[in-house]
Amino acid sequence: MKKYCVIDFDKCSPEAHDVAHGLCDAAKVCTRKLIEQEDPFDAPVLMSKTMCTGCGKCASACPLHAVNIITG
Ligand code: SF4
Ligand code: SF4
Repeated sequence: MKKYCVIDFDKCSPEAHDVAHGLCDAAKVCTRKLIEQEDPFDAPVLMSKTMCTGCGKCASACPLHAVNIITG
């Protein structure tokens, strides 16, 4: 069992909170750089469930509450 983050793609909408650049706020705060967008305005993905500590910084930073920390 470990904690890690999961992105809810139904809620995620980069253009809704960053009309100009489409950048992910959750990605900006992960010190391990584990959340990446392939291109601006794309939904981000978690690059490594194993490397994720479940710290919750990304979840706190997402203005649309599209990132959840789960244990599994
Ligand atoms: S900050 Fe949240 S809503 Fe915005 S792109 Fe990242 S995960 Fe999606
Ligand atoms: S929970 Fe922490 S380590 Fe995992 S992706 Fe989010 S900010 Fe990075």
